[in-house]
Amino acid sequence: MAYDFDLFVIGAGSGGVRAARFAAGFGAKVAVAESRYLGGTCVNVGCVPKKLLVYGAHVADELEQAAGFGWTLEEGHFDWGTLIANKNREIERLNGIYRNLLVNSGVTLLQGHARLTGANEVEVEGQRYSAKHILVAVGGWPQVPDIPGKELAITSNEAFYLKELPRRVLVVGGGYIAVEFAGIFQGLGSATTLLYRGDLFLRGFDGAVRTHLKEELEKRGLDLQFNSDIQRIDQLEDGSLKATLKDGRELITDCVFYATGRRPMLDNLGLENTGVELDPRGFVRVDEQYQTTEPSILAIGDVIGRVQLTPVALAEGMAVARRLFKPEQYRPVDYQNIPTAVFSQPPIGTVGLTEEQALEAGHKVQVFESRFRAMKLTLTDIQEKTLMKLVVDAETDKVLGCHMVGPDAGEIIQGLGVALKAGATKQQFDETIGVHPTAAEEFVTMRTVTR
Ligand code: FAD
Ligand code: NDP
Repeated sequence: MAYDFDLFVIGAGSGGVRAARFAAGFGAKVAVAESRYLGGTCVNVGCVPKKLLVYGAHVADELEQAAGFGWTLEEGHFDWGTLIANKNREIERLNGIYRNLLVNSGVTLLQGHARLTGANEVEVEGQRYSAKHILVAVGGWPQVPDIPGKELAITSNEAFYLKELPRRVLVVGGGYIAVEFAGIFQGLGSATTLLYRGDLFLRGFDGAVRTHLKEELEKRGLDLQFNSDIQRIDQLEDGSLKATLKDGRELITDCVFYATGRRPMLDNLGLENTGVELDPRGFVRVDEQYQTTEPSILAIGDVIGRVQLTPVALAEGMAVARRLFKPEQYRPVDYQNIPTAVFSQPPIGTVGLTEEQALEAGHKVQVFESRFRAMKLTLTDIQEKTLMKLVVDAETDKVLGCHMVGPDAGEIIQGLGVALKAGATKQQFDETIGVHPTAAEEFVTMRTVTR
């Protein structure tokens, strides 16, 4: 049967664009439908604008440190409107780049909501298209618990477009987004409280990292409230919000920001017209090659709920394009040792196993840990400490995990990701010459076993 397209991609986000461009480059006839914004979550309401706001908040640190280096500055003034306008201009520029990337690779770009009408058929704006393969790359959407007054709360989607910086913010959640936005708001001047339901935020990260970040955030004046959760939100007459906690306490704020995870974006996608099944968590079920339970339909990225990171969605998109249209170049995505950063203030960089995971996996573990005051701070009164940690298999000497909390952690951890992928041993770390004077050199100079 002749199809309109070899590949029809639903969603022009990180994964969809990568798959579409490479499939077209391999000679396939490709269409992409996008209902909202080119580049998806990462470019529009995710990684990119988030990092720009993190840079904005970090300026406050630079200003605080300036006096130690002899700079006298007049009282600074921060204008949220300027930051948001400049951020929006940059996002529009990136939207244009994504459009050109797709069009120049010969992809047919369709603007509008796509709905599956069959195993090989998609409808966009009343028009039906047939395709041999359909790729569902629709991403995710913020999920807010169903509590009274939840409509008064915002999520990351709205935070990027707030008209004004709230004077007081209550951030709810203990994952990447909660910790990053608490740092943004706090850095830019909002009185910020982070509310997390468990004992300690960032579940799944190394224990030392979680505790160290907690201590550093508290030093910065962030109000951390663990074992706390909101029962209801009410608007008061003066426009402020009252959050009533499950333990009966009441907190008054100007903004309640929920960062309590993301659900797959399956709204009106028409999955019921296909044999696509969901997993128990509600994400699209796929096999090792991203095929759903409907053989002609594949799915990648946040919608499969595996690892919700842009570089992972990119790798999955690439794998799908290669498997379908350039099988001789196909390589499965390696989900081991994915480096990741949390752009908190200070940031976290991590790759490989945490100490807890290594022990649970049955490794005999040697831990090397170092805490120090970064050289840049020695001319200032700031007492922030950097944490670096290596988790090593005591029997094979292989480095199982590298963890850091401190300036530039995300930049530093990328190279260590290569080392772990190559299977580096602690001895090879030790034999690597450091770059002096940097914080990063500590990763190759830790000699004393802490545990
Ligand atoms: P998306 O990028 O979400 O793209 C899906 C696209 O599909 C969207 O454009 C959507 O409009 C479109 N779509 C949905 N349904 C339809 C439909 N029916 N028809 C047509 N189009 C449709 N990751 C990192 O690696 N580093 C970070 O620093 C980072 N920061 C983040 C910060 C925030 C605030 C958030 C929310 C996420 C962040 N992420 C980060 C995660 C990252 O953004 C996602 O993992 C990534 O965007 C997933 O890519 P995707 O292709 O699966 O989906
Ligand atoms: P996460 O899954 O990282 O964290 C969700 C948090 O919300 C957890 O602390 C969870 O607690 C808590 N939570 C979940 N449900 C409830 C509830 N009903 N009530 C109270 N608390 C709740 O999600 P995020 O929204 O922070 O981010 C989504 C994903 O996007 C991340 O996992 C990450 O993959 C990606 N991302 C990556 C970034 C980066 O690379 N720097 C930055 C931002 C996002 P508990 O732990 O107890 O379950």
